[in-house]
Order: sequence, then structure tokens, then C-alpha cells
Amino acid sequence: MSTTVTYQGIGASPGVAVGIAFVLDARRLRTPRHKLERSAAAAEVLRFKTAIELSDSQFEDLKKKLGSEGEEHTLIIEAHRLMLHDPMFIVEVTRLIKEDLINAEWAVRRVRRRLKHQFDNLDDEYFRERKSDVEFVADRVIRNLMGEVVDQELEVPPNAIVCGHDISPADAAMLVRSGSVGAFVTNLGGHTSHTAIVARAREVPAVVGLGKAVDALRNGDVMAVDGRRGLVLVNPGEQQLALFRETIRQQQLDEAQALKTAELPATTTDGHRVRINGNMEFPEEIPSLLAHGAEGIGLYRTEFLFLNRSTPPTEDEHFESYKQVLQAMGDRPVTIRTLDLGGDKVPGRKFEREQNPALGLRAIRYCLQHRELFRAQLRALLRASVHGNLRVMFPLISSISELREARSELEACRSELSRQGVPVGKRFPIGIMVETPSAAWIADRLAQEADFFSIGTNDLIQYSLAIDRQNRDVAYLYRPLHLAILRSLDSIISAAKSANIPVAMCGEMAGDATLTIVLLALGLEEFSMTAGQIPGVKDIIRRVSRTDAVAVLQQAMAFSSAEEIERFIKAEVDRRFYTGAA
Ligand code: PEP
Ligand code: MG
Repeated sequence: MSTTVTYQGIGASPGVAVGIAFVLDARRLRTPRHKLERSAAAAEVLRFKTAIELSDSQFEDLKKKLGSEGEEHTLIIEAHRLMLHDPMFIVEVTRLIKEDLINAEWAVRRVRRRLKHQFDNLDDEYFRERKSDVEFVADRVIRNLMGEVVDQELEVPPNAIVCGHDISPADAAMLVRSGSVGAFVTNLGGHTSHTAIVARAREVPAVVGLGKAVDALRNGDVMAVDGRRGLVLVNPGEQQLALFRETIRQQQLDEAQALKTAELPATTTDGHRVRINGNMEFPEEIPSLLAHGAEGIGLYRTEFLFLNRSTPPTEDEHFESYKQVLQAMGDRPVTIRTLDLGGDKVPGRKFEREQNPALGLRAIRYCLQHRELFRAQLRALLRASVHGNLRVMFPLISSISELREARSELEACRSELSRQGVPVGKRFPIGIMVETPSAAWIADRLAQEADFFSIGTNDLIQYSLAIDRQNRDVAYLYRPLHLAILRSLDSIISAAKSANIPVAMCGEMAGDATLTIVLLALGLEEFSMTAGQIPGVKDIIRRVSRTDAVAVLQQAMAFSSAEEIERFIKAEVDRRFYTGAA
């Protein structure tokens, strides 16, 4: 009997799966290395360029095959094509061939290694993850130079647990499309790696960042995967298997139940109607958001348009994405947030570190200093507004002047478009993210000039409690139920109500069903969250009265410490909604 081995990785896409391991070919690419005669260099450069062309046409084929499967994979493949043709990559490889007189495979490998080091040194996790994309592209070129077969269709058994050192987004997309993947498991990757993104968008469980665990796996191993907790069990015992199977059964029941009631409105037992919207990063998430009962889009994080590219998207590229989302949502509201790029996240400035990026040139501050970039987005938004029910919001507003400046830039773009005879839709609401303590303090004044608020609790908590949201060492201090946060939320929501403007919340706090009662009590009437969180939050709202929620919060706010408040709320929530739960 084989013993069970348990691995802990990063839970990248929730859900539980049991299946047989299908280990993708983990052969390390053995790059041939030799010196060239000077007279052979020109022919070698030509061989390299031919491999680039071949790789490009393979990407084109892949795109066609995945054509009907949604925009996201297409975007990723397009990004890989851009990397392939990046002048820096081509010029550097060509230079190494000509000056160092080394073969093309070896030259590509050297450039790949250099780029990888540059990515390793980035502070931002999201951009650090992009190094694997550089590796996929370079490996493809090397394999083509070596005449290897690439992109063969993989025959994967149904419900297989697909395991790999790293799985390329193209492979992940193709495999998901075949419908036979039970889960993904990889050595590399983080929460924002592409495999994770593809998996989440398609609701396939995934555990990434397992170190070397996958190297020990064999085809046919029985595996159990918990994508929420980041757990991977190899050869689980009968009892463990039974537990996993029971969770899967429960998961299927919950999902079926959730989908059945997804369309129902979220109204409290005493008749308060709450609106539940969805948060999104990619247009491909829309079908899942709608299926889970989203009534609109509360947050579209447009900085994801910068995924894997070294140049900013053009006005037309912005426009196409916004049009696609607006059309897909029909007359439901779509809230598009202007770029929330941090100082360390912007192409071209990637290697210029700021001392303290969270307090640096980020979001609206960056856009107001880079007007061309901002104007391209604003013009695209204005043009796209003819295609649906648009709302635009500015991130990280910390003063009234920023809101005025951003609004006046938008108006300048509107006038410019009308002078140019470009059609623009009717005026749309212009709101702000309230996510800095200064915005919270002057919420009454901001409410005079903004058409709506959306509270970004992820940042509001970070800045109010002075804890870096990326820093593990202070993660224990990240407390949504800290009295300072509750008071702050209370005053933001009250300011919006006094000024008669809508107030929403799109930070993580809005999607946490254990906190729904608190937000209801504070008078929040619009929540925005990821697809999977919608049914749970709707369910709680339908089972509670607002009056009851207010009474609970009043008692909770009589305590002074976050621990006491948390303990009290948890007990109340468990008693009301989760009786009998483990
Ligand atoms: C927030 O800060 O709560 C938010 C929704 O924005 P992001 O997480 O993109 O900073
Ligand atoms: Mg934020």
C-alpha cells in the first residue's frame, strides 16, 4: 500500500477535485551550444528569424483553434506574439550571434536568462509572474530551432489532474477547452500567474507554487486537490478520499442550488433591496458573473489590459475591450475604473523603483502626470459609451482637486471628440473609489462633486491601519472589523446618503458573506464581488432583516478591540446562518 504524501502550495483557483495524475512532459529543454565560424553568422541569424516566423504562425493557429473560446486566451496569445516580435529580444539575440559567434539556440537561452533575472528583481508579484511568459515564448523559439514538434494535441483522460513544472497559458486554455481537466497543479506560479487566471475564469481548481512537488509525481497517481486551501494529496487514504468526494458532492449541490437562486434579487426580509454586481479583470469572466447572478459590473480593473505587454494599449484597443463588455452586459450598468497602475507597474518604468510604491505615483496620480496615456483611455471610454450603460470611476482619489482635474480632462476629451465629429454617448455617471483616509474624511465634500462612490476596502484598510497589503509579516493586522474601519465606512456611507448619491463597495470585504450583516447594517445598498461569492452573499441578504442587522452592529461597535468585535459578529453570524456547520 502506498503512503499518502501531502503538499502545500498556493490555492490559485477554488474547488475540490479527485482524479488521476496526468504529468505533462517535464523534460528539461537541453539547449545545444556551439561556436560559429564568422562566415556562418549571417545564415544563423536567418535561421533564428525563420524560427520566429514559425513560432508566430503557430501562435496564429492556436488562436484560430481557440477562436470561439473567448477573448482572454486570445489576448494572452497576442501578448506572447508581441513578446516574440519585441525588438529588444530580436536585436539582442542577433547581436549575440554576430558578436559572440554562438548558435541561435544558445543566444536565445542567454537572452531568456537575462530577462528572467530582470523579472525576478521586480517588487510587484503580478509583474514578477510574467517571467514565465517570457520563458514560454523563448522555449518555443528554441524548440522550433531544434526542429521539435510543438502543440501536439494532448489526450488527457477525463477529470485528470494535470500536473506540470509550469503549464503554458496556451496549453491550459486548450486543455480546459477539451473539458477533461479536473484540476491544475504546478511547481511554479502564483495567484496572478496566467494558468491561475485561466483556471479561475473557467472555474477549474488549481494549486500552484508547489516548489518541486510535481517532479515526484507519476502518471496514474491518485490525487486529491483542494484549490482553496492550496492542498495536494498524493495517494490519499480511503477516509481522506471519502471526505474529498463528499466535499465535491456538496460543492456540486451548492453550485446547483446557487445557480437556481442566482437570478433572485437580494432583498432583506424587511424589504430592503440590495444590488449585487460583479468584479472583473477580463471580458471572459462575464458569462460566469451573469450565471452567478451579477446584476451589473461594479468594478472592471482596466489595468489588466497591460497584461504582458511592453507598450500601453492604443485608444482603439481600449475601445474594443470596453465595447465588448458593454455590449455583453446589455442595459445593465458597467462600472469601468480608469487605470490603477502603480509606479512600479508601468511599462517602460518597470525598473525604476519607487521607495514606497503604495504611497507613490499610483492610479489617478500617475494618470494625471501621464496625460497621453490617460487621454487614450478617456477617449476610448467616451466612444464606447454609445454601446451600453457606462459608469466611470477614478481610483485612489485623495483630494477634491484630483477629482476636478480628472473630470475636466474627461470633458476636454469629450469636446475634442465632438470637434472631430466622433460619436459619443449621453453623459454618464462619474464616480470615485473611496479608498484613502483623506477621501473618507472629506467624503461629504467629494459627494458634492462625484456622481457615486465605490468603497475600495482593500486599500482603505491598508492606508487606514498603516499596513502594507503585500507584506505577510503584518497580514495579521489587516482587520476589516477594526473600529476605525467601521467608523470610516459609516461616515462614507452617511455622506453619500446625505448628498443623495449611490454608494457601492467593491473591495474584498463586500464579497465576504460573514461580513454581509455588518455592511447591511451600515446601509450599503450595492455590493460588488467575484462570481463565486455572489450566491453566498445573496443568500445571507435574503435571510436577514436590516433592523436585526443594525441591532447586531450597534452591540458590536460597543466593543473597542477588533478581536472582540470579530468574536461577537462571528458568534451572531454562526448562530443565525450556520447552525450545525463544522
Ligand atoms: C480596493 O482597493 O478595495 C479595490 C477594489 O481596488 P484594488 O484591489 O484593485 O486596489
Ligand atoms: Mg484599490
